[in-house]
Amino acid sequence: MQPEEFRHRAHALVDWMADYLRDVGSLPVTPAVHPGEIRDRLPVAAPDRGEPFPRIFDDFRHLILPGMTHWNHPGWFGYFPANNSPPSILAEMLTATLGAQCMSWATSPAATELEQTTMAWLAGMLRLPPGFTGVIQDTASTATLTALLSARECAAEGTRTVYASEEAHSSVDKGVKLAGYGLEQLRRIPTDTNFAMNPAALDRQLTDDRRAGLVPACVVATVGTTSSTAIDPLPAIGEICRRHGVWLHVDAAYAGTAAIVPELRAMLDGVEHADSFVFNPHKWMLVNFDCTAYFVRDVPALLRTFQITPEYLRTSADDGAVNFRDWGIPLGRRFRALKLWFVIRSYGLEGLREMVRRHVALGTAFAGWVEADPEFELLAPAPLGLVVFRHRPAGMTDAAALDAHNAALLARVNATRRVHLTHTRLGGRYAIRLAVGQRCTGAAEVALAWDIVREARNQVVAGS
Ligand SMILES: *Cc1c(COP(=O)(O)O)cnc(C)c1O
Repeated sequence: MQPEEFRHRAHALVDWMADYLRDVGSLPVTPAVHPGEIRDRLPVAAPDRGEPFPRIFDDFRHLILPGMTHWNHPGWFGYFPANNSPPSILAEMLTATLGAQCMSWATSPAATELEQTTMAWLAGMLRLPPGFTGVIQDTASTATLTALLSARECAAEGTRTVYASEEAHSSVDKGVKLAGYGLEQLRRIPTDTNFAMNPAALDRQLTDDRRAGLVPACVVATVGTTSSTAIDPLPAIGEICRRHGVWLHVDAAYAGTAAIVPELRAMLDGVEHADSFVFNPHKWMLVNFDCTAYFVRDVPALLRTFQITPEYLRTSADDGAVNFRDWGIPLGRRFRALKLWFVIRSYGLEGLREMVRRHVALGTAFAGWVEADPEFELLAPAPLGLVVFRHRPAGMTDAAALDAHNAALLARVNATRRVHLTHTRLGGRYAIRLAVGQRCTGAAEVALAWDIVREARNQVVAGS
């Protein structure tokens, strides 16, 4: 493709992109396809000769797009959001155009220095205490693995153990496996009635394990659990970690963004005890996937864990510069700081705060409707836009029947393809999750979701 054709195609694509962002709300949120259906329509082998761009783009529109789940649909209430935003998309276009590999300072000086600057901005936005240094990772899973590897590096010899609440994300289990602790060395600490870690139980487990000759290496506390945005009490957990000499990693993958709002910042009280902290601007801060902010206190410990410098990667700038390839697992790194910079500058702190406040208020409103309806039940507090609830029809008391009933209700809701919700299990119960966090979601979509839930309730009750 010659430069002039590229120019012409790119202009047409941008028009398509603008239309998509404007109209995505009128598409079905999820596609009506069966496994294998899309693959069956695609050629089994690569073409011998290059094909004209219009044909490729046409296939994108007719074969690929109808098979996509639209995460940026205003009716998206599933999992946690994977937001994007126009400034972030534009930055991604530039990143793709530059195609730089940002492994070292010398391989793209501006990328490294913009990463340092935007990470310092984020630390300021979250009011992290002084002493934290940030680096962008691809996902929170990788950042948590990075923390577990660093903690292992810093721990004494012996059988090292890891602690996280029963509600901690599965990335902790995965990280414990990958970092070589062995899954059997992960201690699941019980939670209180609000699904937050019980610090007294953590203290007892640490004491017992040390008495037994084990080496507690890392505690992972969660701020905003995936099932219910429960907030582990950092001040108490931090004090316990200090006393036992254990690395404290704080996973705020989703909820971290909310800490930019002054009246919500209290959830990070105690973060000054942390050795590492992670949150995902790619979830709730309007930055395209992927972009994870990982902050550490002890940079030398990070470097001790990850630094390897073969001859072919040495540069004359190594003495005076930061080489982010030594701050994580992959060597190659995308220029992710650019989209973060575009987003923060475009919205400003106030614009981002306004969005978080709007989502939280919409979640609170939905939780209020659930509570006011005697047939519905809120299963956890909803402080951060995530509402976890279930339907409990009069007379239905059997636990398995309630689970099946709510699974059927959720299937009905999602079959409308106008909104999309997902589920979890909370305190052993099947629970429907409604996460308000998509950039364009407003009062109309949240009200629509409640209407659809109640309509589905009528259908399921009539059908059973
Ligand atoms: C989403 C989530 C993760 C995993 O995030 P990735 O960036 O997809 O790895 C980890 N922890 C919590 C609490 C989450 O909500």
